[in-house]
Amino acid sequence: MNWALFGASTIASQYMIDAIRGQGGRIGWVVSGDAVHAAAYRAKHEIGHWSTAILEALEDPGIEAVYISSTNDKHHAQAMAAIGAGKHVLCEKPLALDPSQAREMIAAAQEAGVTLAVNHHLRSAGSHRAIRDLIAKGAVGRVLSVRVFHAVELPVHLRGWRLDDPKAGGGVIPDLTVHNADTVRAALGEDPVSVVAEMAATGLGKGVEDSAMSVWTMPSGAMVFSHESFTHPHAESGLEVHGTDGSILARGIMAQEPVGEVTLVNAERRTPVEYDKGGLYAAVIRDFEGAVAQGRAPHASGEDGLKSLLIARAVLAAAQSGTRQMIEYGDKK
Ligand code: NDP
Repeated sequence: MNWALFGASTIASQYMIDAIRGQGGRIGWVVSGDAVHAAAYRAKHEIGHWSTAILEALEDPGIEAVYISSTNDKHHAQAMAAIGAGKHVLCEKPLALDPSQAREMIAAAQEAGVTLAVNHHLRSAGSHRAIRDLIAKGAVGRVLSVRVFHAVELPVHLRGWRLDDPKAGGGVIPDLTVHNADTVRAALGEDPVSVVAEMAATGLGKGVEDSAMSVWTMPSGAMVFSHESFTHPHAESGLEVHGTDGSILARGIMAQEPVGEVTLVNAERRTPVEYDKGGLYAAVIRDFEGAVAQGRAPHASGEDGLKSLLIARAVLAAAQSGTRQMIEYGDKK
C-alpha cells in the first residue's frame, strides 16, 4: 500500500513508518504544518514528498491510505478530507475531540466505502489477545472486576501539547483513558454503562489533568478500575482480571513494545501464560491492510474509536462534575 502521513509526529517516526515499511508498504508523502519540519522529516525518513497542504498529497492518485498522527484537534478535519478523496484512513487515538466529529467520520467512511480504523494498538498485542482468549474460554469463570494500571512517566521529548494545550486535545484522559477503555472493551466484549471519576494535576499538567482514576460499571455487573497518569516514574503498568474461578495478573503490558508478563492464578497453581511477541504496530498495519483488501472491519474500527472516546469523555465529565455519568452509545451494545 502507498501511504501518506498527516502529521510529522514522534509516533510515526518511532513506530509507524517502520511498521508500514515492514509490511511492504511505501510512504509517498508526509504533511506537516511546518515546512522546515516537514522537509527535514521527509529527508530523515526518506519519504517521497513533503507538503504543508494535505490536499496536495490527497491529489496524488497513487496514495491509497492516510495515517493521521497530528495533534488530536486535527484528526477530524484531516480524516474528513482523506475520506472525501477516497483514501482509507488509519487515525490515531482519540479518533476526534468530540463524539459528534467521530460519528461524522464514521458515516463519511461508510458512505465513501473506505476503511476507517483507529490505532488502539494494545488490542493487537499478543499479551492482550492471550488475556482475551483466557477470559473467553472461561479460565477465570465469571469476571467480577478488572483493574487497569496505566500510570507512567511521560517521556521528556513528549512534554509539549499533551501537558498544556487543552485545545489540541491535551490531558491524560484523551491520551491514556481512551486506551484503557479500548483495552477493557476488547477484553470483556462489553461496554461500560456508567462511570465515576476524579482527576488532578500532580506536577506536569498545566491547564489539563495529568492523572485520573475512575470506576466503571459494566452491563454484566463487573466493576472496572482505571488509573492513568503522566507523572509516575516508578510505577509499573498492568492489567488484572479477577473472576470467580481465577485471576489473570499481567504486568508491564500497557506498552508500545511486546513486553510484560501474564500469569493465570487459580486454586491449583500460578501458570505463566505464553503469548505472541510480534510487534504491536506491525499487527495494526497488517490488520488494516487485510481489512482494506478483504472489505472487512479492522480490529479497531471507527466505532471502537467512538466508544473509547465516549468513555473517556464520560470520565472527564464525571471528574469535572463529581457525579456519576451514564454513557449512551447510540446502539444496542
Ligand atoms: P508529536 O508531538 O510528536 O507530534 C504531533 C504534531 O506536533 C506533529 O504532527 C507536528 O504537527 C507537530 N510537531 C512535532 N514535532 C515538531 C517539530 N519538531 N516542529 C514542528 N512541529 C512539530 O505527537 P505524538 O507523536 O506524541 O502524538 C501524535 C498523535 O499520535 C496523537 O494523536 C497521539 O494521541 C497519538 N499517539 C498514539 C500512540 C499509540 O500508541 N497509538 C502513541 C503516541 C501518540 P504537524 O501536524 O503540523 O506536522
